[in-house]
Amino acid sequence: MSNACSKEVDQFMQGLIKRNPHEPEFHQAVQEVTESVMSLILDNQKYQDAQILERMTEPDRIVIFRVTWEADDGTVRANRAWRVQFNNAIGPYKGGLRFHPSVTQSILKFLGFEQVFKNSLTGLPMGGAKGGANFNPRGKSRSEVMRFCQSLMIELHRHIGEDTDVPAGDIGVGSREISFLFGQYKRLANRFVGTLTGKGLEFGGSAGRKEATGYGCVYFCENMFEHRGDSMVGKTVAVSGSGNVAIYAIEKSLTMGAKVVTASDSSGFIHDPNGIDQEKLAYLKDLKEERRGRIHEYAEKYPEATFHAGERPWNVPVDIALPCATQNEISEKDAHALVQNGVLAVSEGANMPSVAEAVTIFREAKILYGPGKAANAGGVAVSGLEQSQNALRLSWSRQEVDARLQGIMHDIHHKCLEHGSDNGYVDYVKGSNVAGFIKVADAMLAYGVV
Ligand code: NDP
Repeated sequence: MSNACSKEVDQFMQGLIKRNPHEPEFHQAVQEVTESVMSLILDNQKYQDAQILERMTEPDRIVIFRVTWEADDGTVRANRAWRVQFNNAIGPYKGGLRFHPSVTQSILKFLGFEQVFKNSLTGLPMGGAKGGANFNPRGKSRSEVMRFCQSLMIELHRHIGEDTDVPAGDIGVGSREISFLFGQYKRLANRFVGTLTGKGLEFGGSAGRKEATGYGCVYFCENMFEHRGDSMVGKTVAVSGSGNVAIYAIEKSLTMGAKVVTASDSSGFIHDPNGIDQEKLAYLKDLKEERRGRIHEYAEKYPEATFHAGERPWNVPVDIALPCATQNEISEKDAHALVQNGVLAVSEGANMPSVAEAVTIFREAKILYGPGKAANAGGVAVSGLEQSQNALRLSWSRQEVDARLQGIMHDIHHKCLEHGSDNGYVDYVKGSNVAGFIKVADAMLAYGVV
């Protein structure tokens, strides 16, 4: 970056931090995009005249509300919930809902901001949003989760709609929660429309949605290897997480001919040097999706695996890392360990899983580094396809959805090449940020001053 450019970035970030104090995750996400797009803005007077970056970093609106519900023991509980409607320049707001005790406005603003660029990259007409609550589903009964979802929807339903804002799942919000939320939405709105995605197949869901983020992340990884004349066949893979994204990233890695040796949850990680095969994956799915168990149980069932309490898997020597748990789960030290152990590729299933210093290490080492907004866009892409099917009142086959997903991930990869190639090296961070930015910025310019 030139001196003039980095001066502009610093000046812009100072203002943003002043306007949005105590929001470190939001600052981190904006800093990365600003560094990528500043030279484009300085070269284009139209973006400067329109104050485009100032406008794109200010959400259209944020709705904050209380969710009151009753626990099984009769005690009354109150949580805080948000919907951050970030930008609808290219389509109705779209983005997941997260239920986790760590949820704050900063986290939802970073996720909503990232979502704007990610949705733009998919080529589908979707704006960006994110929402959620500081509610911890762990340890809650099914009835408690249902009452919480129903209470949340009593307020949320006023702000969403199939042409306004279409929420989906994220951490802590899987098919069970989406079913409770959609059931309550349908009752309140008295309409059966595709206002939520990730629905059950019996009531408007899309084949392939639950697999889409994990599969898409692996397709993106394979695209990066292919561009270097290589493939994932025979490579070893470290996956973090054991939730929706991680499980299907493991599944697709196996079908690509790779060997996955780790999985994790917030209690620690398991290392299985023999690899997680189809039978072990079936066990993991049952453990996590059905029994809602903990990851150490895997090592008890398969003694060749070891459990590492309180640790993350990034010290295990592997060819590929697929972080699929949460934000900032790869520290600077972890990134050094991965690079020193010879990692060839990092493809992010989670949103912003690498701290800024880790991203710098990956880029300087010139490994294949696919940032989340490109690599995990498959989930929202298939959510977009679910919206299309709902509008058409049709259901496409699993094969058709998967073929479209592969096509979308291939196109995203191509956009990254177009905007991120430099002397034979592909900077996927710059490529994805610039490609995502141009479409949204040009739509905003077309609307005039709004
Ligand atoms: P799930 O709730 O299904 O799974 C999350 C996994 O990450 C669990 O194994 C969980 O462990 C672990 N985890 C969560 N928080 C932490 C933490 N603070 N430290 C360590 N481990 C943690 O969520 P998803 O799989 O849906 O989402 C995972 C990531 O992928 C998130 O970053 C999400 O934003 C991103 N993403 C998801 C999409 C989707 O379609 N679902 C789409 C695009 C991105 P534990 O059970 O112990 O909490």
